[in-house]
Amino acid sequence: MLLKQSHKRELPSIDSDALERQSAEQILTWGIKNFHPRLALSASFGAPEGMVLIDMMHRLEPTSRIFVLDTGRLHPATLDLIDRIRDRYGKSVEVVMPHGPDVQAMLNEKGMNLFYESVENRKMCCRLRKVEPMRRFVTELDAYVSGLRRDQNVNRLNTPKVELDVANGGLMKLNPLADWGRDQVMDYVKRHQVPTNRLHREGFPSVGCEPCTRAVAPGAPERSGRWWWEEDGSEECGLHVSDEQEGGLGI
Ligand code: SF4
Repeated sequence: MLLKQSHKRELPSIDSDALERQSAEQILTWGIKNFHPRLALSASFGAPEGMVLIDMMHRLEPTSRIFVLDTGRLHPATLDLIDRIRDRYGKSVEVVMPHGPDVQAMLNEKGMNLFYESVENRKMCCRLRKVEPMRRFVTELDAYVSGLRRDQNVNRLNTPKVELDVANGGLMKLNPLADWGRDQVMDYVKRHQVPTNRLHREGFPSVGCEPCTRAVAPGAPERSGRWWWEEDGSEECGLHVSDEQEGGLGI
């Protein structure tokens, strides 16, 4: 299948079926060749997938770019890991912040821990602290890389290795680890001694914002510690949900 080009960007023609048969390294090599330096890895520093991709991309292109959405509510362990990555690879991590006045207005009106009170409040917080900063940042990119895997939850089952991200303005989104399993990720981490978030060793398979993540029992679904108080929670913050799925809001 040929993906349509964005009307805003000059993107190469893409045969997504052929890319689907490529390995993670091949997808990244293709992405770097076509898009670097207007390509960056979106890393949460709360999941080993992003750390694997940092390592892989750095081996392929030492000037490859990484960015992190600093929501203002990240765990100290996550902030520590950002600095460990800077030291280990000798490169900067681009920190993307929310729009201060918007967050300030939300907190003044709804309170500091508004997300526990309703799903609407939680989505508002995720939108202001994650989704909108991400959209602003990627306007300067032609493509970005994510660590999504199909077996992380039901929302991610159909994740392609390369897709057009319409919700974020029509840039390319590369998901090189789409067909990887957790064991494959952890095997890479071990073989290459990749730094990971220390909370993984304390029962957090996926680390998000401090107030919205908790440890889970061994063997529990990877993202079940996220927004645990929501009975029918999607386990998604809105960054990886299409406009179509959420009625045009992308949250
Ligand atoms: S995960 Fe929680 S604290 Fe972080 S942006 Fe979403 S609702 Fe806000």
